[in-house]
Amino acid sequence: MSLSSLLQLFRHSLQRLELSLAQAVGFDMSLGPALAVNGHCILPQAQHNSDEECSDPSFMDSIFWMAAPKKRRTIEVNRCRRRNPNKMIEVKNNIEPCPECGNLKLKHILCGFCYEKVRKETAMIRKQISIMEGAPLNTPAVESVVLYENETPSDEDKRKIERSRKRPYWFKM
Ligand SMILES: [Zn+2]
Repeated sequence: MSLSSLLQLFRHSLQRLELSLAQAVGFDMSLGPALAVNGHCILPQAQHNSDEECSDPSFMDSIFWMAAPKKRRTIEVNRCRRRNPNKMIEVKNNIEPCPECGNLKLKHILCGFCYEKVRKETAMIRKQISIMEGAPLNTPAVESVVLYENETPSDEDKRKIERSRKRPYWFKM
């Protein structure tokens, strides 16, 4: 009988002794005491798993972890923050009606409604000019006058831009 077979026999007998001891005490076969003596044989899967963990990145590694609050803030604290007077919108006292159209506007600011009307009319006058003269370099070097319906030019020398509508009340002669 060779040395290796003798060792193996010894090992088997030890294993059996261990197993019977464990059963007598009440341990399950897969649990503890055998681990100390013969862990490699009893738990081959565990070792395999640890190898896998080292090689492959797990699902948890792919998550980007954010900082999270450690304690819940009470509703009182939240309401104090939300209703803080410093965070409220300031009450405006500098609002007045527009003297031209009557819409509300800030005192120091142009009325948006009036500005929009003027802007549209100016765009129409510019369009009329481009139809009349074609290019900006064709502009004559004389004073311009905008003529609305039923109006006659006071001076014939002026450059006349005619618009086919009634004169707006805000566009004075
Ligand atoms: Zn206005």
